[in-house]
Amino acid sequence: MNLMLFGAPGAGKGTQAKFLIEKYGIPQISTGDILREAVKNETEMGKEAKKYMDEGKLVPDSIIIGIIKDRLKEADCKEGFILDGFPRTIPQAEALDELLQELNISLDKVISLNVPDEDIIERITGRRVSKVTGKIYHIKFNPPVDEKEEDLYQRADDTEETVKKRLDAYHTQTAPLFDFYKNKGILVEVDGTKSVDEVTKDIINILN
Ligand code: ADP
Ligand code: ADP
Repeated sequence: MNLMLFGAPGAGKGTQAKFLIEKYGIPQISTGDILREAVKNETEMGKEAKKYMDEGKLVPDSIIIGIIKDRLKEADCKEGFILDGFPRTIPQAEALDELLQELNISLDKVISLNVPDEDIIERITGRRVSKVTGKIYHIKFNPPVDEKEEDLYQRADDTEETVKKRLDAYHTQTAPLFDFYKNKGILVEVDGTKSVDEVTKDIINILN
């Protein structure tokens, strides 16, 4: 099953991807995670990407498309994958179409997690990630039960100032993909304002 999770920053894509990985045994491909790993390792690509990420801007398409071309060809994608945070521009979506054609596969579903802007800032500024398990929490909506406070960190770009810029980038560059995939007939909408468990149930119902 080849899936894509679509939605604004903070809509819950990473959170839902973690459940789908377990349920369907297919990997999550998060361009954000791949970029953060490159930043941490101070690779040339990481250093270049960091300039954009710190500013809440999208990283140039050429870098992102390069990452995805390599990643989708890896063996663990043979049974399917969950794209999370990619594509984010029309040129990225067109490059993905070409790549999928080359690999002789197609996207089965694009799941759009709909969450209004007014919820996004609180979600993102309250987001915490575990250094140990990589799990995503929220200080108010999804607090950790069995992880220690000191194992959690806040992403450098999860500040109110940067979120506003990321939301702008989302509306101008990413939102047009909604119609791009609706026109292909593979987009389904989910109310992302429901609880984490309810959203998971809605997604699983759609996929079954
Ligand atoms: P994205 O990957 O789309 O940026 P995340 O999955 O990281 O979003 O979620 C952003 C924040 O919102 C996290 O702190 C997460 O715990 C919280 N969150 C995710 N889904 C929900 C939900 N359905 N209700 C409330 N908070 C949520
Ligand atoms: P979120 O879902 O919370 O916005 P991500 O982890 O997906 O966060 O992305 C973090 C940052 O990484 C983005 O603000 C952007 O700078 C960069 N990035 C991630 N994916 C892409 C992409 N497909 N195209 C361009 N930039 C990206």
